[in-house]
Amino acid sequence: MKHQNEGARAHGYTPGRPPQFVMPARHDPYRADNKPQGEQVCPDCGLVNRRGRWMRAQATPQAHSVACPACRRIADKLPAGILTIEGAYAFEKREDVLATARNVAEKVQSEHPLERIMSIETFDGRLVISTTDVHLVQAIGRALHGAFGGSLHYGFQEGDYQLRLNWAA
Ligand SMILES: [Zn+2]
Repeated sequence: MKHQNEGARAHGYTPGRPPQFVMPARHDPYRADNKPQGEQVCPDCGLVNRRGRWMRAQATPQAHSVACPACRRIADKLPAGILTIEGAYAFEKREDVLATARNVAEKVQSEHPLERIMSIETFDGRLVISTTDVHLVQAIGRALHGAFGGSLHYGFQEGDYQLRLNWAA
């Protein structure tokens, strides 16, 4: 799967993008045009879709079984956001770094249940965090930058609707 193992230095990486850069959620193909007439329930995580909004709720017996956008991305192994973390300081502090990232994800997910960390992996001394949503990966990148300093850069692959961040410290 080409999306998983490439670092942020792969094609599409644009150093120096301002951190205010935000992609609108309407471009996410996993979320496009899903305003069902009836109710849907995700068989994997149990979220319920009512009028296009996925939420934690009790599904009615009439609800159709449809995987939510987050579970579809997880099944497809196609993250919306990829944060590559590198640098000696970041690696030395990796326990704190990962705890910070998980804290941010927990907070964000409590309000936005489709925004989740998909995986955390280590490649050659670099940590790679992938997420189901472009906003979550930005929130994690900003939190790490704020807590530990270093430098944060953005890259965006339009064709894939994928936001890549690189944080180095
Ligand atoms: Zn789901």
